[in-house]
Amino acid sequence: SSVFAHVAQGPEDPILGVTVAYNKDPSPVKVNLGVGAYRTEEGKPLVLNVVRKAEQMLVNDPSRVKEYLPITGLADFNKLSAKLIFGADSPAIQENRVATVQCLSGTGSLRVGGEFLARHYHERTIYIPLPTWGNHPKVFTLAGLSVKTYRYYDPATRGLNFQGLIEDLGAAPSGAIVLLHACAHNPTGVDPTPEQWEQIRQLIRSKGLLPFFDSAYQGFASGSLDADAQSVRIFVADGGELLTAQSYAKNMGLYGERVGALSIVCRSADVAVRVESQLKLVIRPMYSNPPIHGASIVATILKDRETYNEWTIELKAMADRIISMRHQLFDALKARGTPGDWSHIIKQIGMFTFTGLNSQQVAFMTKDFHIYMTSDGRISMAGLSSKTVPHLADAIHAAVT
Ligand code: PMP
Repeated sequence: SSVFAHVAQGPEDPILGVTVAYNKDPSPVKVNLGVGAYRTEEGKPLVLNVVRKAEQMLVNDPSRVKEYLPITGLADFNKLSAKLIFGADSPAIQENRVATVQCLSGTGSLRVGGEFLARHYHERTIYIPLPTWGNHPKVFTLAGLSVKTYRYYDPATRGLNFQGLIEDLGAAPSGAIVLLHACAHNPTGVDPTPEQWEQIRQLIRSKGLLPFFDSAYQGFASGSLDADAQSVRIFVADGGELLTAQSYAKNMGLYGERVGALSIVCRSADVAVRVESQLKLVIRPMYSNPPIHGASIVATILKDRETYNEWTIELKAMADRIISMRHQLFDALKARGTPGDWSHIIKQIGMFTFTGLNSQQVAFMTKDFHIYMTSDGRISMAGLSSKTVPHLADAIHAAVT
């Protein structure tokens, strides 16, 4: 018999498992609102035109080879990524205080950042919002950090529990790491206002907490790359230290290319050099060096003004379609007279709506309407289209009445 005979069946990932169940359903009306991947109005995955164009440029360039990248990745990509999140005129970049390494998308950036902190930072506790992306606690626990939560979402208002957030971060031990979603909080779609961000910044700095920004949706929340980076930039502007994990999965549609970046903003250039040397020691035994293709696409797009502008237009079109889905769903529920206040659908931002539906209602919608979503009531607005909105509205209506 197998030496692995004792191995128990592992549970399906709570988010990716939704797609597994969806794929098994033969119903022609089925809708997958589980995984956060953009779909067109026709329900198809989208490769941006500017990405196709960049790939064409790469293919036609005979100087391009398939050599290993350095441990830290593609140098151009790293510089351009830091510029994208911190702003072209960021003092931290001008003063060479930023250590940036190319990582395996957002997840890999969080993991490398977590492992670096577990090895070199004096406080091993990281506070993550409640709720948060389901992978956060697993990534940071396996990185060697101790995970605690801070209050974030208020089910009663379907908005931010700002008081709870301030109390919990105020009670955190000095030096603790705080994970913040830069914009478009997943799964709630609820972000602090600029004034609230400023209060959070003051509290974090006054207590000597260390901010770690997860930026998986820059440009996807509002359609503006700068507006969606504002939270991060106020923390860089005060001269203090922080980490950011960037992903190009959503905003360039490069999901499967696994392209992202970890940046650590330091007090001085010499600290940044030493930090980078230690990031290399984290990365080398994990996967040696990152893949070249996705980072080359990103660098090609970001470094040329024309392709950069094309990208921002396509990005805004994706953000706008999602916003329009919010309005269509809200209007459809209003038209049906569905009981309850559904204004959170249009107030929340980013890829997801946190509907407030409970797990029994979700199970009912899956069984009777073939609508697939995570059991916490989160729906991916990017998976909706004008064609599927009425079906979803019917399902929600039936679930709550
Ligand atoms: N952070 C958050 C909040 C996310 O929603 C995601 C994607 N679902 C990620 C990080 C990482 O995604 P990826 O590794 O595909 O870039």
